[in-house]
Amino acid sequence: MSGEEEREPLSAIFKRLIANTGPISVQYFMGESNARYYAARDPLGDAGDFVTAPEISQMFGELVGLWLADMWLRAGSPQPVHYVELGPGRGTLARDALRAAKRFGLEPTVHFVEGSPELKSLQLAAVPDARWHNDVSTIPVTGPILLVANEFLDALPIRQLVKTGQGWRERMVAVQDDTFVGVAGDRPMDAAIPADLRDAEPGTLIETCPAAAAVVYEVAGRLAMQGGAALFIDYGSDIPRTGSTLQAVRAHRKVEALAHPGEADITAHVDFATLANVAQSRDCRWLGTVGQGHWLNALGIDARAASLAQASPQQSDAIAVAKDRLTGADQMGDLFKVMGLAAPGWPEGAGF
Ligand code: SAH
Repeated sequence: MSGEEEREPLSAIFKRLIANTGPISVQYFMGESNARYYAARDPLGDAGDFVTAPEISQMFGELVGLWLADMWLRAGSPQPVHYVELGPGRGTLARDALRAAKRFGLEPTVHFVEGSPELKSLQLAAVPDARWHNDVSTIPVTGPILLVANEFLDALPIRQLVKTGQGWRERMVAVQDDTFVGVAGDRPMDAAIPADLRDAEPGTLIETCPAAAAVVYEVAGRLAMQGGAALFIDYGSDIPRTGSTLQAVRAHRKVEALAHPGEADITAHVDFATLANVAQSRDCRWLGTVGQGHWLNALGIDARAASLAQASPQQSDAIAVAKDRLTGADQMGDLFKVMGLAAPGWPEGAGF
C-alpha cells in the first residue's frame, strides 16, 4: 500500500477546516490540491489525466532545443551554460531538447525544478545527469541560463476577486450540501483592485497569480544578471481579461473545478500580459508572446515533420496528426502561447 492510499482524502481535510474556521481562499484550495495531486502520480499520457505538447510529439522538444541552441550560438557560445526546466513532467521535453541542442555543440548542465517525488524518479530515468531544485533560488549564479517551462505556470495557485453589491471581495470556497462551492468572502478587497476595475459591474471576476509573477520576477532578474534566455509556454491570454478560468481535468475529461481536490489537475489561464510587464520591470527583454502554432511554424515544424516521415513512412499519418494538434488554430496552436525572454545584449529570438 502506498503512502498516498493511507492518507486522509484532501476533501475531508478541507471540509473539516471549513467547518471549523469558515471558507478558505481559492488560492489555498488550488495550491494544496495541486501539491497533493502531483506528489503521488504521473498525470501525463493516455493512462493519466492529460497530455502535454512534448508528450504529443518529439518535434516539440526538438524545436525548443533548436531555439535555445540558436540563441546560445548567436550569443557567442558562452561557457558554462545551464539548461533549467520548471516542472519537467516525465523529462520528455528536456530529453528531446537536449538531444537536438547537442547537434549544435550545446551541452549544458541540467537543472530541474520539481516538487513531485513521483515525477522526479521519471525525470531521473529520462535525464540521468540532471540536478534537482525545489525552486529557482538554488540554480547556479555563474554562467547564462537557458530556461524552459511548459504547462508549469498554469498549475500555480491563483487568487480570484469578485465584485459584489458590497464591493470587491476575495472568492472563497465554502461547503453547501456537502459540496464545495465558490462564495464571496466577507472582507473588503477594493484596495487590491486596479483603479479601472473598481467600478466594474457586480459579478465581474478577476484572477491574479502571485506565484507565477514571483517565478517570472526571479527568472527575469537572473537573466538580467547572468545572461541567457527563457521560454514560458502555456495556455492563456496575452491581453487582460475578466472571468473565471479555473478548470480541472481528470482522465482526459473536464470536471467541476472544485469537486475533486487532490484527485484532478486544477489549472487556470496564464496572464501573459502581466508576466511580460513583470519581466520588463527587471531589465529583462521581452521578445514577444505569440501563438504556439505561429512559433512552431516559424521554427520549421513542417520540415521536421517531413524528415521524420521520410525516415519512418509507416508513421507519416501519426506525425501529421501530431503536427496538427500542436499547431492547429482549433487545437493547441492559438490557445497556447509562447513567451520569450532574453538578457540584455542577447540576440532576438527566432519565431517572435
Ligand atoms: N512540463 C511537463 C509537465 C507539465 S505538468 C510537460 O509539459 O509535460 C506540471 C509540472 O509542474 C509537473 O512536473 C508538476 O509536478 C510541476 N509542478 C506543479 N506545481 C509545482 C510547484 N509549485 N513547484 C514545482 N513543480 C511544480
